[in-house]
Amino acid sequence: MRRVDNWIGGAAVAGAGGRAEIVTDPADGEEIARVDFASPAQVNEALTGARAAFEQWRDTSLAARTKVLFAFRQLLDARRDEVAAVVTAEHGKTRDDALGEVQRALEVVEFACGAPHLLKGAHSDNVSTGVDAYSIHEPVGVVVGITPFNFPAMVPAWMFPVALACGNAFVLKPSEKDPSASLFMAQMWADAGLPEGLFTVLHGDRELVEALLVHPEVDAVSFVGSTPVARRIYDTATGAGKRVQALGGAKNHMVVLPDADLDVAADAAVSAAYGSAGERCMAISVVVAVEPSADGLVERITERIGDLRVGAGAEPGVEMGPLVTAEHLDRVRGYVGVGESEGARVAVDGRDLVVDGHEKGYFLGPTLLDCVDPAMTVYRDEIFGPVLSVVRVDSFDEAVAVVNANPYGNGTAVFTNDGLAARRYQREVQVGMIGVNVPIPAPMAYYSFGGWKQSLFGDAHVHGTDGVRFYTRTKAITARWPEPSPERAIELGFPTAT
Ligand code: NAD
Repeated sequence: MRRVDNWIGGAAVAGAGGRAEIVTDPADGEEIARVDFASPAQVNEALTGARAAFEQWRDTSLAARTKVLFAFRQLLDARRDEVAAVVTAEHGKTRDDALGEVQRALEVVEFACGAPHLLKGAHSDNVSTGVDAYSIHEPVGVVVGITPFNFPAMVPAWMFPVALACGNAFVLKPSEKDPSASLFMAQMWADAGLPEGLFTVLHGDRELVEALLVHPEVDAVSFVGSTPVARRIYDTATGAGKRVQALGGAKNHMVVLPDADLDVAADAAVSAAYGSAGERCMAISVVVAVEPSADGLVERITERIGDLRVGAGAEPGVEMGPLVTAEHLDRVRGYVGVGESEGARVAVDGRDLVVDGHEKGYFLGPTLLDCVDPAMTVYRDEIFGPVLSVVRVDSFDEAVAVVNANPYGNGTAVFTNDGLAARRYQREVQVGMIGVNVPIPAPMAYYSFGGWKQSLFGDAHVHGTDGVRFYTRTKAITARWPEPSPERAIELGFPTAT
């Protein structure tokens, strides 16, 4: 079976930790690779090497650093099909969707290529007589990225281009469910000329993460994953004195107002709920239908679901692939029964789907639960699969209240033709990323990505200017170059003169 290596000191290294995870092909259930976890000695070696590499890299000129970023950008652009194929093989998402993921990764690299501009400090001339004040942004040091299974290329790339461009060393702990994309990117960094030790990949699970969070050589931690883990990461790593940003789970609502074009809204709901089999942190998992829109909307969504092609992600024409693992399939499938028993109406039931030629794949057909109440388990829990709930409400105010009462605050969308209502929604809703007639409002790389409430623990969102701020520390400098003078200038009080 193919072995997935760690990447330490600029080379692929077999994990020596004695524990491993088997990676399966979600479309067939076959075992395709084995990922050997790093040992504690390998972790120490990697982090010591990262520290040494950082000490050199922080003194490397912006021009030289940026050259490596541009070279990596060229490689990622040229090899995007290969990266997408690696993602599809282990995650299961369709090839088009994987290509979209690589495109978003590329956009963050392109943003980070502008590092010389992003790292400019401020300068104030003559703040007091003969005194200048200015700021400089220095790298934080060795930063760790811990990433989820659902975007094995894009989510690490939310972090590493910016971290490296700012002068840090980056250590990636990818998801053990689909770890190969990280190795592919490590090789591309080496090919782009990044000095060894600056990009490291360590494989493992909770045990490795807990060691990294408190390791003395780690200065900052970026995490993306589920809320219970994000909260724990934030508490543990901040307790150990690290700088932390921990992005958590989501329950994204799409509010459809009565004046909306229901065909447009139904297209958007189906795309955003079932794309990538609902395994997106920005997937729409709840439609809040403001009456009298609900019947028409449910009818249209149902009709569209019937036309979706579910199958192996690598096959042309397939629109929705399998779930990532057998355990995840069982969990998501289980929620459909829970919803039914709690009183939701199963308008479309994907549980019996069998994909010809892929009978052992982890498939669940697109499922629609109508008449869901916010008290139900299917509403409260993040399901993270192709299960869309419809909550029916009577007014705009009730819709906003439902969204704001939810503990998550990652993304949301409003569908309407009324600009005033859209503006009110944007101002009143307690969510970090908002779409107006856009179902998945993931910000461009030059804005920052992040949710509110239990979708993010910490202060900084990822990429964009927040990313630069997270991966740098600022020094404020006050400087005076006095004229030589025979007079003493002792002053014990706070300065009052200008
Ligand atoms: P997860 O929380 O199970 O795992 C994320 C990472 O943490 C993995 O690298 C995993 O190995 C590690 N991990 C898992 N359990 C751990 C534990 N107990 N202690 C320490 N480390 C642990 O998440 P997942 O299932 O891989 O990904 C799906 C989740 O990620 C969903 O909740 C989704 O909403 C979320 N997500 C959020 C965003 C966002 O931007 N907010 C983006 C993508 C995914």
